[in-house]
Amino acid sequence: METEISEIFSSIQGEGPYLGVKQIFVRFGRCNMHCGYCDELEKMKEGNFAVYSMDRVLTAIDDFEKEKGSHHSVALTGGEPLFYTPFVAGLLSRLKEKGTTTYLETNGTLPGQLKEVIRWCDIIAMDLKPPSSTGDRDFTREHEEFLKIALEKEVFVKVVVTPKTVLSEIRDCIRIVKNVNAKLPFIFQPLSGPFGIDTDSLKLVENQFFAEAQKELLDVRVIPQMHKIWGVR
Ligand code: SF4
Repeated sequence: METEISEIFSSIQGEGPYLGVKQIFVRFGRCNMHCGYCDELEKMKEGNFAVYSMDRVLTAIDDFEKEKGSHHSVALTGGEPLFYTPFVAGLLSRLKEKGTTTYLETNGTLPGQLKEVIRWCDIIAMDLKPPSSTGDRDFTREHEEFLKIALEKEVFVKVVVTPKTVLSEIRDCIRIVKNVNAKLPFIFQPLSGPFGIDTDSLKLVENQFFAEAQKELLDVRVIPQMHKIWGVR
């Protein structure tokens, strides 16, 4: 079995409640979405990926463990890992056989595919995608269905806030989480880059969105996209 891999590397997790842990990242090539702020869009347009066999991916992971010491977990990221579900199911099951902690980074729009791999996932980092920040259609129904399935494991949700994000969309995101479980960690990610945190996005969170989320949810946080500020992958 083969798949399209953009890169495999060892780095520090730059987002969410696992901010700062060392992980091996397996970045899959393509995605079912086309978010305006995506770092990977150019590669996706060009189809600029390497073809990896299962053994080659597992060997690369082993090599990083030997070279860089132990890691907290292996993060499957993208692109969208669930775009490659048969390969991801095989990879996750092999990683669990070795006792590795698995961490799935996903846009949370492919619930049927999640069902096929969830038994081998330990941690699910799910993005909620407001249409104004992605330029894509509304995925509320898929997000809610996805989150209900993900509840079987450890899961938290992240929402990227850009200057274009509007309160009605944030209310939709809050409703999705409240309908499933109001205790789940709900993390605002103001748009970030090598310039730091986008101040307009941060102000929206501080002045409007955080308080709105706290009315309905029990674990609301704001964590910037630190890998972009640190300038690491
Ligand atoms: S869901 Fe993630 S990987 Fe896919 S286009 Fe959007 S930002 Fe990029």
